[in-house]
Amino acid sequence: MTIRYSALDAIEAVLPVADRFPTLGPLPKASDHFGENVFHLTAMRDYLSESAYLEMQAAIQHGQTVSGQTAEAVAEGLLKWATDRGATHFTHWFQPLTGGVAEKHDSFYKPAIVPGELGIEAFSAAELLQREPDASSFPHGGMRGTEAARGYTLWDPSSPAFLLETRNGRTLHLPAVFVSYTGEALDHKAPLLRSIERLNVAATAVCHYFDPEVRRVAATLGWEQEYFVVDKKLYNARPDLVLTGRTLLGAPSPRGQQFEDHYFAAIPERIQHFMVDFEREAGRVGIPITTRHNEVAPGQYECAPMFEELNPAVDHNLLLMDVMQRVADRHDLRVLFHEKPFAGVNGSGKHNNWSLATNKGKNLLSPGKDPGTNLQFLTFFVNVLQALNRHEAVLRAAIATAGNEHRLGANEAPPAIISAFTGSHLEEVLHRFVQHGPTSVAAATDDRELGIRGIAPLALDATDRNRTSPFPFTGNKFEFRAVGGGASCSPAMTALNVMVADQLVAFKVAVDGRVERGATIEEALVAELRVQAADALRIVFNGDNYSADWYAEAGRRGLSRHATTPQALAPLATAEVRDLYARHGIFSARELDARLHIQLETYIKVLDLEARTLDQLLDSHVYPAVNAYLDGQQAQALRFADLGMTDAADHVKARLGHVFGLLRETQELEHRLHLETEAAHHLPTPAAVADAFAETVKPLGEEIRRRVDQLELLVEDGQWHLPKYRELLFLR
Ligand code: ADP
Ligand code: MG
Repeated sequence: MTIRYSALDAIEAVLPVADRFPTLGPLPKASDHFGENVFHLTAMRDYLSESAYLEMQAAIQHGQTVSGQTAEAVAEGLLKWATDRGATHFTHWFQPLTGGVAEKHDSFYKPAIVPGELGIEAFSAAELLQREPDASSFPHGGMRGTEAARGYTLWDPSSPAFLLETRNGRTLHLPAVFVSYTGEALDHKAPLLRSIERLNVAATAVCHYFDPEVRRVAATLGWEQEYFVVDKKLYNARPDLVLTGRTLLGAPSPRGQQFEDHYFAAIPERIQHFMVDFEREAGRVGIPITTRHNEVAPGQYECAPMFEELNPAVDHNLLLMDVMQRVADRHDLRVLFHEKPFAGVNGSGKHNNWSLATNKGKNLLSPGKDPGTNLQFLTFFVNVLQALNRHEAVLRAAIATAGNEHRLGANEAPPAIISAFTGSHLEEVLHRFVQHGPTSVAAATDDRELGIRGIAPLALDATDRNRTSPFPFTGNKFEFRAVGGGASCSPAMTALNVMVADQLVAFKVAVDGRVERGATIEEALVAELRVQAADALRIVFNGDNYSADWYAEAGRRGLSRHATTPQALAPLATAEVRDLYARHGIFSARELDARLHIQLETYIKVLDLEARTLDQLLDSHVYPAVNAYLDGQQAQALRFADLGMTDAADHVKARLGHVFGLLRETQELEHRLHLETEAAHHLPTPAAVADAFAETVKPLGEEIRRRVDQLELLVEDGQWHLPKYRELLFLR
């Protein structure tokens, strides 16, 4: 029996939900367990002295550094809090440039050195503040050699510590940044924190034109996470899913997403069990998930939290991906976060809803009733658009990965061209503002009578939706929709923060200049905003971003239209982008080069892995299945010939010829895949290697796939080894 058939048998044997979860018991409220494994301010109040508590509060709410004395008190409080809850180990939890998270557990228990003595549980400020992993074993892009390997993780007190548990133990996790001996960032959190601070300083300064009492401006993030769920046994029978996260082969299922019957459909029972479980686990570590639903593709779902400040929101997304996979395991399921696990149906993105909030709780992107005369709103709205307009290539580079390449531009996800959607009303506001300065523009937001008895009138939003835009304004926030499903939010958010900070700094210089030359602040703001808005309109596009017209129009507007990852990454090597990152102290030229290098290397490694996995799939799964089928057909042709049934024999022979032809073509293409992969690796620079993989190796893989997917449909079902799309997408 094929591995596929045994997996299918095993699914049949899965106990019905009612037997696996026999008693329902009393159901807890979310508030009963929310945050119970988090060292949040309320827990700190019980475990810290008054002064330590206040210092931690300032660290969390104002990004202040924690003093050595307080660190001592926090370490003591944390040890007590964690061990009271059964934790035996602690770890710095950091975000190396692999894009995932890393941890190394150390025990609180310190065995005694003196013979015959017993050890004790202890945790020092030094252990809390700083750890030293081997930096050369993580991606460093040449910033560390194996002989100069020192790297440090440093505790980030602004993101709360939490306990992660397995059935038999708990570990205290301390969010941390990861830097080299020379102080260069080796992770995604250090630059994010720097960018958050730059944005805070720049935005607070601009806020002072309107309200001198604003102390701090925080970027906020609410991500929406799309994902697929497949049965674990089927997953395990697909080496391509296990090794690369996506299917490299697989004929389309006749039923796909054409009935548009999956989006928001009733959630399947087995999946809802999984959702309820992972949401509870997420809640216990403080991730405020609020939304769950079926997504467009069969087997695809989404969840979203209440938005939070950017740094904890990014941490929470990474933590959630980890929690989801652990919980899925208990349900014999597997979560796929890959941007494009299946050809022919939608891929998965991670929409990043982003806004700016003052310490007084005001959302700076809230348009209010009359955006056309709301100078504070217009200031931030126009400056974000202008930041995008000036630095679109930077944002495009921040989402360029091998996985996302399948999604961007594939008429289901935002295209690979960055533009912003404002809706027609705000576009009109911008045009009028450029021409006349502040002007009220009426919006069609009056309630609309539906004329259905018993149904309240429709309360209209100011803008309709545009699902084709990568960067739509959605009422009081921007939604960056082009981030990959498996990616960390951090690189995209760092880029966005820096772009906006840079623009706000330039804006303030220009406004202050006008004031020095005699304008009032209001005159200066209006005059400068009119100039910036006129410019920023280049990036605004409210039409269909999937259309060929837009592609041409974007070219006329001079926007980047990079289709491949290496092309999209290339701007990172330009003086303009280097200056931007260096000017704000986010990345030195060396750090940026290292990152570019790592991204190119990762791209090459992913495509190389896919090529080699495809090769193994062909040799050990596809060819044996096709050969077995050919043997059977050949025997049949001979039997027909023996019986004198020439017509029937010819018919089978024709079929044999067709299958054999596809097999030959596949084998020839496979041979070329070997040669081209080899040749690519011999090119002189990573950029050249990456280009060759994008332009030669990847298309060959797709050519092979086209043949094999035809073979899958010809070969007898019982002989095909790899679980089919219909099974992966529909069986649960
Ligand atoms: P939709 O699918 O309609 O775009 P969702 O309700 O799924 O919307 O998600 C919207 C996301 O936007 C949520 O995560 C929400 O918390 C977030 N959000 C709302 N307001 C803000 C804000 N001011 N800043 C950042 N994110 C926000
Ligand atoms: Mg959304």
